[in-house]
Amino acid sequence: MSRQTLKNIYRMIEEATKEIPLEESFVADINVAIQKLDEQNTKQSSTSYNPSSLVCVRNMYFKATNAPQDERKASPELIGMGEAGTDRHERLQRVISEMSRFGIDCEWISVPDFIESRKLTDLEVVSQDGFETLVHHKSLNMRFKCDGIIRYKGQYFILEIKTESIHKWQNRQGVAEEHVAQGVAYSTAFGINQVMFLYENRDTCGKKAYILEVTDEMKMDEVIGKIEEADYYVKKLVPPPKPTDLPRNACTYCLYKTECQKAGA
Ligand code: SF4
Repeated sequence: MSRQTLKNIYRMIEEATKEIPLEESFVADINVAIQKLDEQNTKQSSTSYNPSSLVCVRNMYFKATNAPQDERKASPELIGMGEAGTDRHERLQRVISEMSRFGIDCEWISVPDFIESRKLTDLEVVSQDGFETLVHHKSLNMRFKCDGIIRYKGQYFILEIKTESIHKWQNRQGVAEEHVAQGVAYSTAFGINQVMFLYENRDTCGKKAYILEVTDEMKMDEVIGKIEEADYYVKKLVPPPKPTDLPRNACTYCLYKTECQKAGA
């Protein structure tokens, strides 16, 4: 490459860099770092089922067969919202765990202690991180993180915290359709038939709570039946047909869209 060409390239780079005001390049650089750190922290997913995948038996199949996932390209904004949600979870868990100190009839139950005291031999504690416990259900091959177990006014509840946009929160009148299977999965695992869903408004921190009452029929339909169905297809190594009764937005964050498209209807 001639000296003149090189000079021209340097000049072009200089001019291109000059055009970006420092404030804008600062924001852009922060966003790059956020995404890089997120990529580094992305954990390898396991082949166990997880409660949030129970909405779609085809998603369960892809997970259990370790199918290739779509490239994860979370925007810096989405990553930030996820982190804010995690922060709020931890704060709310701490508050709820301390309610009894103020004479409120609410006891925080440690998940490992609960598993041991109820002799839930199918459940294995994989890890404990602050208030969150990662649990593996051996016979159902299901792995999940539980927000907590509480005894409130004499009754046991599984606690599930959700943070959501102001628009969703204002219109909320009950447990979201796409969260039901998750609640039923926890209930199946712990043998507690009530799940306290706490929904927090991301903008105002306003709160609404709804109790999901879980029946044996729901456990069969939403969890055990679906796992049996997914296992059947996993054994045959054939993707199940695409479910026709998926909740709205069920596919939005699915990481198997490409595989799903390849598998057809
Ligand atoms: S894209 Fe939708 S239908 Fe296909 S596997 Fe994912 S959640 Fe299921």
